[in-house]
Amino acid sequence: MRYVVATRNRHKLAELERLLAPLKLELLPEHVALPPETGATFRDNALLKARTAAAALNRPVLADDSGLSVAALGGRPGVRSARYAGEGASDRANLEKLVREMSGRADRRAAFVCVLALVDPREGRELVVEGRCEGVLADAPRGEGGFGYDPLFVPDDLGDGRTMAELEPGEKNAISHRGRAAQALLRELGLRS
Ligand code: IMP
Repeated sequence: MRYVVATRNRHKLAELERLLAPLKLELLPEHVALPPETGATFRDNALLKARTAAAALNRPVLADDSGLSVAALGGRPGVRSARYAGEGASDRANLEKLVREMSGRADRRAAFVCVLALVDPREGRELVVEGRCEGVLADAPRGEGGFGYDPLFVPDDLGDGRTMAELEPGEKNAISHRGRAAQALLRELGLRS
């Protein structure tokens, strides 16, 4: 079975292909419009994108939504992770805003969250899975790898104090919210135990 991915981002497609092998994935055709991400949750946004594209194409579609949820900020930046410092904000501006907002706060718990939604209009099937990576926010950014909020996020899994941006790509994939969501989806599809 081939799945269309509801994204125009080739990097995201390549990453999902790596994480979801043996699934065959393809980019959303140009003529299909993506809805604005107006949902209140990652789940709402992933389902919104998958349902819209699946209805337009009458084919199975996979969509994702992801971001960072910070406990002391009531879950922010959450679904606004990509535009935390404003519409079209750079990763750096978003990161700097988070550093400022967290300054002096004792509770530094945070989690990266990824939701994958698979909608098959022909079988009337919807699958939604979530992957999480729990951790804490460092006081200042460290590391050159990854993207987004990686330089501020210290995952619990490794226990050596390195930020996500200080990990090798393979180390990040093994513990990341996206990697975990992908494994959950493959399990739901009966493609791994
Ligand atoms: P998207 O919805 O998957 O495109 O991601 C939304 C935003 O969440 C990104 O622009 C980043 O700010 C943040 N984000 C998602 N995944 C990661 C990650 O693995 N590392 C750092 N930031 C991330």
